[in-house]
Amino acid sequence: MSEVRFVDLAAMHDEVRAELDAAYHDTLSQSAFIGGAALEDFEHRWASYCERTNAVGVANGTDALTLGLRASGIGAGDEVIVPANTFIATAEAVALAGAEPVFVDVDADTLLLDVAAAEAAIGPRTAAVIAVHLYGQVCDMDALNALCQRSGVLLVEDAAQAHGARWNGRRAGSFGLFAAFSFYPGKNLGALGDGGAVVTDEPELADKIRSLGNHGRDMPGAGPHLVATNSRLDAFQARALTVKLAHLDTWNAARRRAAAHYERALAGLDELRLTTTASEAEHVHHLFVVRTHARDALRAELSARGIQTGIHYNVVCHRHPAFEPHPAPHAPVAEDAAASVLSLPLHPHLADDQIDAVVSGLHHFFGSVHA
Ligand SMILES: *Cc1c(COP(=O)(O)O)cnc(C)c1O
Repeated sequence: MSEVRFVDLAAMHDEVRAELDAAYHDTLSQSAFIGGAALEDFEHRWASYCERTNAVGVANGTDALTLGLRASGIGAGDEVIVPANTFIATAEAVALAGAEPVFVDVDADTLLLDVAAAEAAIGPRTAAVIAVHLYGQVCDMDALNALCQRSGVLLVEDAAQAHGARWNGRRAGSFGLFAAFSFYPGKNLGALGDGGAVVTDEPELADKIRSLGNHGRDMPGAGPHLVATNSRLDAFQARALTVKLAHLDTWNAARRRAAAHYERALAGLDELRLTTTASEAEHVHHLFVVRTHARDALRAELSARGIQTGIHYNVVCHRHPAFEPHPAPHAPVAEDAAASVLSLPLHPHLADDQIDAVVSGLHHFFGSVHA
């Protein structure tokens, strides 16, 4: 049996190869690699796609979060609430900004930030809550917005897995003071290398982020330079992203079709717990996550059938020795997820017979008659 790959970037890039070749040739003929018209063009398109007035291209998603937090005045002495179930970069960005991550549990159905747990964790030093739209589903932004408003803390979005997703019709990235995106190649919108962006409706915040990512050049009210960093999105990546952005909605729709196919085919398999999609959410299925405590054996069985899977994530943030707060937060849902989550292959170029091969592997493992 042929391999079922977890992601298939080659198939994606074959689809747009001629346009990507042109992007490369344009970059060479102009030889303006940093900043310039190609970057500005992508920034305008990305801001408008995210229903925002401003976008700033940066080097990666981690920098997008870190620079956004720094530009918002968050740093030493501040606490920032983050879900315990997220990629480590969310917490890392808080620490890099000089603040302290406070980990809270996630909802048992969606595995996204639990709003009641976030509320319980807000204290006098809380400066912000980071809503992580994990796996491609936007958090409950109505509840989080109301919570942050009445508590007087900032709401920030980590939208690194949710390009194009919606909540009540509004795009991921359109809710918080700012939102951070990653264009790591495997994300729903990926560059041909590393990349990231911050989107916001605050032009002054956007200027600060741009300055912080460019050696603190021309920071309003400061000298010619601050001690900041170098974090820029280069012109070639901006061109490649512009090419791929034109296909993002189509590719997200293909992800949704594949996810619906899995959901139909796995509905009777009680041994597997799927994550649910809120009725307000339009999911973009960056990952298709199932849960079972037979995870490791199932993963081995699928691997023997040539089916690649992933685990997102097998260590909750507060169990990483680098973060381990004392006392450990009470996050039983996140802890259980770390022991049971498995991500099945899902990408826009996944064929129906490949999905069927995964499904039959699952049925076979659980000994169901459908095998
Ligand atoms: C990928 C990712 C990031 C970090 O993005 P990089 O571009 O790899 O730095 C941050 N948060 C989440 C949830 C991610 O999935």
